[in-house]
Amino acid sequence: MRVVLQTTWNTTAAWRAELLRQAPDLDVRVWPEIGDPAEIDAVLCWQPPPDLFAGMRNLRLIQILGAGVDGLLRAHPRLPPVPVARLVDPVMSQRMAEYCLYATLRFHRQFDLYERQLAQAKWERHQHPDPAEIGVGVMGLGAIGSAVVRLLRQLGYNVAAWTRSPHPEAEVPVFVGEEGLPAFLARTRILICLLPLTPETASILDRRLFEQLPRGSWLVNAARGEHLVVPHLLAALETGRLEGAMLDVFAHEPLPKSSPLWRHPKVFVTPHAAGITNPRTATAVIVAQLRRLERGEPLAHLVDPARGY
Ligand code: NDP
Repeated sequence: MRVVLQTTWNTTAAWRAELLRQAPDLDVRVWPEIGDPAEIDAVLCWQPPPDLFAGMRNLRLIQILGAGVDGLLRAHPRLPPVPVARLVDPVMSQRMAEYCLYATLRFHRQFDLYERQLAQAKWERHQHPDPAEIGVGVMGLGAIGSAVVRLLRQLGYNVAAWTRSPHPEAEVPVFVGEEGLPAFLARTRILICLLPLTPETASILDRRLFEQLPRGSWLVNAARGEHLVVPHLLAALETGRLEGAMLDVFAHEPLPKSSPLWRHPKVFVTPHAAGITNPRTATAVIVAQLRRLERGEPLAHLVDPARGY
């Protein structure tokens, strides 16, 4: 099988080595040195340039090397008519769950407050509620949202999720669509956004949404920066509608040094580090996918470009 590997990362050589270690029979061609494009069966890519797919008339799979396909769909509104799959790596989901657990504990156990006290050498203890008294609202119950829900439930948090379609199998209350959003927000103290970025979810974390949360809530955004309207967040922190925010993703990355988010006392910024891809485990997922393609079996983690995720 002949595959093209294209990334914008400086780890392309390491990815190639890992692919060949796990599947020595693969013919891995690193973009742009791909030989005859008509020979290519599959493309493994991240932020592909506009001409990447040119001449690939026998292409059978576009496999994204990350969980979100928003960048690909935005840059390539007319993709070749072949299946598009995204990366669903249980190790990545676990890492994301750890990040959201830290954020939840940070706000629940008031480590943000203790950090501010630390700066003043101030010795003062604060009561905190039991986890069962904290409503955690997870937006998105996909590969990552499900892992987050599972972990937080184990610790006794009062978790609910918000999705696009009903999830009768879920072990937590699930609120669906526009109609379900007000009730979901009203019972949420810690809001965790794990939605894909689509036309429906862009700028969803805005003033209108914050006003439906209980006063003094917290926001965690580990999905995409474009979900959040930053001026509305700053206003909600100012009025006390929101008590704090932990943000991993930004519309412009790296987050410019001039951004007020870096210096805001109630905002905790991390550099898109919640779920850094592990090339070893991600490659195992991708090789399994390429084997399915070889055997003509149904492919996993397919994206519906019309739906946007
Ligand atoms: P999935 O596609 O598995 O899940 C998406 C979930 O969002 C589904 O439950 C879906 O609902 C729900 N959803 C989609 N659109 C809407 C909508 N309009 N209204 C309500 N719910 C909606 O995605 P993953 O869990 O794998 O990943 C989520 C996102 O996390 C990725 O797209 C990526 O942007 C981000 N991410 C960030 C990382 C980081 O390092 N910060 C790392 C990895 C991912 P339904 O179930 O009904 O379809």
